[in-house]
Amino acid sequence: MTVRVRFAPSPTGYLHVGAARTALYNYLFARSHGGVFVLRSDDTDEARSSEEYQNDILEYLRWLGLQWDEGYAVGGDHGTYRQSDRYDRYREVARGLVDEGKAYYSFASPEQLEAFKKAARDAGTSPAYDGSAEPGAEEVAERIAAGEPAVIRFRIPRPGVTEFTDAVRGNMTFDHAQVDDFVILRSDGSPTYHLASTVDDVDYGITLVIRGEDLLSSTPKHILLTQAMGAEPASYAHLSLLMGPDGKKLSKRHGDTAMSAYRNAGYLPEAMNNYLALLGWSGGDDEEDIIPLSEMEHRFDLSAVSKNPAVFDPKKLEWMNGVYIREMDAEDFAAAVLPLVEEAFGQLDAPQRKRLDAILPHVQERTKVLPEVADQVGFLLGPLEGYDETSWEKAVDTPEGRVALDGAIAALEAVETWDTATIDDALRGMLAEEELSARKGLQPIRVAISG
Ligand code: GLU
Repeated sequence: MTVRVRFAPSPTGYLHVGAARTALYNYLFARSHGGVFVLRSDDTDEARSSEEYQNDILEYLRWLGLQWDEGYAVGGDHGTYRQSDRYDRYREVARGLVDEGKAYYSFASPEQLEAFKKAARDAGTSPAYDGSAEPGAEEVAERIAAGEPAVIRFRIPRPGVTEFTDAVRGNMTFDHAQVDDFVILRSDGSPTYHLASTVDDVDYGITLVIRGEDLLSSTPKHILLTQAMGAEPASYAHLSLLMGPDGKKLSKRHGDTAMSAYRNAGYLPEAMNNYLALLGWSGGDDEEDIIPLSEMEHRFDLSAVSKNPAVFDPKKLEWMNGVYIREMDAEDFAAAVLPLVEEAFGQLDAPQRKRLDAILPHVQERTKVLPEVADQVGFLLGPLEGYDETSWEKAVDTPEGRVALDGAIAALEAVETWDTATIDDALRGMLAEEELSARKGLQPIRVAISG
């Protein structure tokens, strides 16, 4: 059986780093198991969904290089893979389940449901709604025939339990006494998430659902619905949620959560993928940090995914971005930073280009995010705008700073052949003569030249 996984974002927001990790794990699982990666559009929340969000999701999945094999925007055997195009199909399934007695038209009002729950709590029985506040079969038939709107609820088989083995979390057991007869079709004929998601998973032949832990409690409902449709349930893997460094659920309070913010801030997709993958996956070796996507595509497996919450640490991401920047080919690095430099300093002339090319290999070694480069090379491209105050106070405005600068000027004036080795000799000679350490003697020169 071919492995088929899916990423099913709702276009109700920009691609979030947590969602990107879910997409990445689905992609990697498909690649490492010779499977098919399907993209779906879960756009049933019409009020909150937008084209702008949908496009952002597509753009950043592509930017990360997580190309899907089938689904939304690329096509396949199942139409558009967009839920808003499939309402007829969801209604057909819901009504079919009613015909088979596995679901029912429900007229219970919110007040009646509340009264049911209160009575259950008072009696010490399960407050999960079981349909007992509904009118009798005859009355239901009459009211439906008269065109009265009703929701359709799924009838949970009671008593009973649903068990499954989550590929990350292990054995899970849900007692049906805790599960409501949940709504699958609203009275306006629109499907709920549970119905649309399950019907899609069945129709698209999904064999494994990898998604966030926030959806774990939905899974028994999806398994029961799948069985009611006469299909074989998929396997499931629920990923722990991402936390901020303070241990709380990752949110805007912790910094940027939209993938676009990371691209704009100069992060490389290679570093994002590597970092996101390690938020939960250990690569089989806890010490190993740098694993490029092409290698993860072979090595990824859910058995090495932890169920513990993963902490999103912007500092570690920045460090990892620096590692990938150092690994770039010099020409690629130059091509990536030139537009940023020209944005800051205007189009460079030939002498400026020459100076930039000379300094870039040194800058590449210390860059963590690309936009830093413009700041670091500015002193070579135009007049010095001023000095960094802290650096000035620490390095230049000290007794040694004075000595070093005067000594450097004298030493450099005496240099005849202006090349690296001769300059280096001259400055080291000055350090020895003035009895200055390299740090105390060279930092002032660097600050004086570069600001
Ligand atoms: N559309 C859902 C969401 O964006 C995920 C659905 C699923 O993976 O089952 O949260």
